Amino acid sequence: MENNGDRMSGTEEMEYEEIEFDVVFVGGGPAGLAGAIRLKQMADEAGRELEICVIEKGAEIGAHGISGAVLNPVALGELIPGYREKGCPIETDVTKDAFLYLTENKAIKAPVTPKHMRNHGMHIISLSRFSRWLGEIAEEMEIHIFPGFAATRVLFGEDEKTVTGVRTGDKGRGADGAPRSNFEPGYDIRAKITVFAEGARGSLMKSVEQRLGLFKKRQPQVFEIGVKEVIQLPGEGSGFAAQKCNDLHFMGYPLGLGVPGGGFIYAMAENRVAIGYLVSLCWENPRLDPYNEFLRFKQHPFVAKLIKGGKVLEQGARTVVTSGYYSLPELAVDGAMFTGGAAGIHNTPALKGIHLAMKSGMLAAETCFEAVSADAFDRGVLKSYPEKLEQSYIKTEMFEGRNTAQGLAKTGMPKLFHLGAQYVSGGRGIIDPMPLGPDAETLRPAAETPDLPAINPRSLDGELLVDKLTGVYLARTMHREDEPGHLIISNPAVCAKICYPKYGAPCVNFCPGAVYELEKPEDGGDIRIKLNPSNCLHCKTCDIKDPYGNILWTCPEGGEGPNYVMA
Ligand code: SF4
Repeated sequence: MENNGDRMSGTEEMEYEEIEFDVVFVGGGPAGLAGAIRLKQMADEAGRELEICVIEKGAEIGAHGISGAVLNPVALGELIPGYREKGCPIETDVTKDAFLYLTENKAIKAPVTPKHMRNHGMHIISLSRFSRWLGEIAEEMEIHIFPGFAATRVLFGEDEKTVTGVRTGDKGRGADGAPRSNFEPGYDIRAKITVFAEGARGSLMKSVEQRLGLFKKRQPQVFEIGVKEVIQLPGEGSGFAAQKCNDLHFMGYPLGLGVPGGGFIYAMAENRVAIGYLVSLCWENPRLDPYNEFLRFKQHPFVAKLIKGGKVLEQGARTVVTSGYYSLPELAVDGAMFTGGAAGIHNTPALKGIHLAMKSGMLAAETCFEAVSADAFDRGVLKSYPEKLEQSYIKTEMFEGRNTAQGLAKTGMPKLFHLGAQYVSGGRGIIDPMPLGPDAETLRPAAETPDLPAINPRSLDGELLVDKLTGVYLARTMHREDEPGHLIISNPAVCAKICYPKYGAPCVNFCPGAVYELEKPEDGGDIRIKLNPSNCLHCKTCDIKDPYGNILWTCPEGGEGPNYVMA
């Protein structure tokens, strides 16, 4: 049986109460909510009763929502015409954008912003607020919304291959797995169709993949980790307000033309900005710490001037899937479809995924309606979803970025050469498809890689520049201490005897939540990795980047993890 990473359901024989729906959307982000709303719209128009449910592992809809985020409104306009008048929480509209290359001390503005990054007229949003708003609309439409319920297991039919729903995790188990006095068992949520909308590196998606091989003959999914903050600036006279662009993208310092990565600053309402830095997980140096690179980006003289006098209000981190069209898995199986980031749907050159996630949810919803009308839910019917996707702007946008992650992974001038060729050839470039390897296989031994610049801890003022633990606090992340650990190191001996001698414990460096700590016994014995799972930001970097696949991220109790309200 596949490892479904379910730590929150018991191994003892238990009867789980069953709840039945026509369609369940797993994940209350843009893909799941847009899908549920579209399906209900179609059912209402046809005068048909459909029981639709959305389950969300965050404490509330939007609690785990974090993204840049510039929203291309194309899918939103289709789903909710007149969305602005209907209260869509738009922070600002992009009025002028710029693309800058950072050297160590200077910022060089590109004379022309690359076409994919021209965002004029698009909206800067807080994804957590936007998701909450979509959730309210869904609730008003009488869609069943269940926040605080983590789906921890995929349910299959008797044929062992038809998805029939999901089980939500138990609540109230102790660290030893035994039920405590406040124990509440999960539910078996059965549905004719299950739509997975878990976001990048969804853990249920992984378990379906292990059973049904969704990625056979596809390129592997690859990812970037983004650390993001919302900063309150001092006022109209701030450095940011003084320059005329409200949508800035950066390449160059601190990563230069080596590891792919870059930063952004977007204007939000009330003199706030969203600032973030993304690093591709294809890095080679096991010392690399994306959080460190984010701080170095913020300390660059040009960036520091823009955010001077500010105070961090919220911080968070999340991986983004960037591999593109050639990594799309099978999108429909018997009883289920895969949407949004979980399926790898993202426009990588434009750094945007929300509109494509929404559109994929909407196309899956249209397929659900066809299937319900035909009373048939096998892959032969549900394959209408990938066919629709092929005819939509999801295909157009993703196909243009089909080699972007591969081009970005090159270093120095070849990077610019490949990206330039792709830019002028509609994404084809010099090699099409360019090969792509998994992020877990790119590390080089620590002895072969240089030390990296460190951040002077005294430069962190606790207001504008904060350390990882303060960032965890500002993400409001929460996990019950006495529960089965949701991060599993399968074999601690691999950490001590193989990974540490070769790579020097990369998990300690790459985790933005300071979850992994290296303990060196004074008697010279084997090192140990101590876990602080309560700090976890659910970014999934460890689940992807661990070179030995020795770390398994599983879903903790529903309602836990970060609680974003502005990100
Ligand atoms: Fe991210 Fe893993 Fe660290 Fe949690 S433990 S914050 S998922 S890297």
